Amino acid sequence: MPLVTSKEMLLNAQKGGYAVGAFNAENMEMVKAIIQAAEELKAPVMIQTTPSTVKYGTLDTYAGIVAAEAAKASVPVCLHLDHGSSFELAVQAMDAGYTSVMIDGSKLDFEGNVEVSRKVADVAAALDIPCEAELGKVGGKEDDLEAEADTNTDPQEAKEFAERTGVTSLAVAIGTAHGFYVGTPVLDKERLSEIRKVVDIPLVLHGASGLTDEDVADCVRRGICKVNFATELRAAYSKAVKEVLEQDPDTIDPKAYGKAGIKAVKELVMSRMKVCGCDGKAC
Ligand SMILES: [Zn+2]
Repeated sequence: MPLVTSKEMLLNAQKGGYAVGAFNAENMEMVKAIIQAAEELKAPVMIQTTPSTVKYGTLDTYAGIVAAEAAKASVPVCLHLDHGSSFELAVQAMDAGYTSVMIDGSKLDFEGNVEVSRKVADVAAALDIPCEAELGKVGGKEDDLEAEADTNTDPQEAKEFAERTGVTSLAVAIGTAHGFYVGTPVLDKERLSEIRKVVDIPLVLHGASGLTDEDVADCVRRGICKVNFATELRAAYSKAVKEVLEQDPDTIDPKAYGKAGIKAVKELVMSRMKVCGCDGKAC
C-alpha cells in the first residue's frame, strides 16, 4: 500500500498499550529487511533516516526506495525523518514524500526548542503530517548530536512543551543513550510514568539499542508508543556482511553479502517488534 503517516499507527498503539517499532535504515537492503519483518509479523512499521543518512543518500532516494517497497507490502509503512536538525530539512523531507517528521531542538534552550518545534509542527499540521519533537537530552552520540546523559525530561515542562508546540508525539529523555551502552543504563521509569500522567500525546523512546527486552517492555507498559532502534541494526547488518566476506574473501557480488545482511536485520527487527508488542497489530 502507499506510505501512510504515523498518526493512526501511534494513536492505535497508545490505545492498545503497545509500541510501534521505528527502525533506522541506511540502504535498500535494510529497508527490505524491515518491511519483510513487518510483513511476516503483520506489524505496522516506521522506517526512519537521520540527517547524516539523508546527506549520504538524499531524501528523494530514500523516499523512492521506501515507497516502492511499501507499495508491495500489505502492512502499513511510514517513512519518518529521525532527528530533523532544522526547519528547512523537515520541510524538505515532507516535500520529498516523508510521511512523518521529527524536529530535534533539544540542543536549544527551552524557549528555542518550543519555537522551532512549533514552527515545524505548524507546517506539518497543514500537510496532515505528524511531527515528533524531543525535550530533554537523550545521552550518547547519534549522528552529529552528542548529549550529556543527565538531562532527563521534566514532566511539567513536557506538558507545557506539548501544549505550546502542538507536536503530535514527544521523545523523552529518561536515561537512555544513543549507541551501545558501555555499562548498564539506569532508566528513570518513574519519571516516564509521571510524564505520561500529564502529557497525552504518544511518547517516544530513543536509544533503545542494547536495552534488555524487559526494560523496553516496561517502558511500553508505562506509556511509550514508539521505540527507535538504530545502532543495533547497523551492527547486525555489518556483522553479517563481514562474515560472508571472511568466509569467502573472493566474493565480488554485492548481492551475496546483501542477502546475508537482509537476513540478519530481518531477524533482529522481528525480535524487537515482538518486544514492542506491535506484532499482529497491522490493520
Ligand atoms: Zn534518537
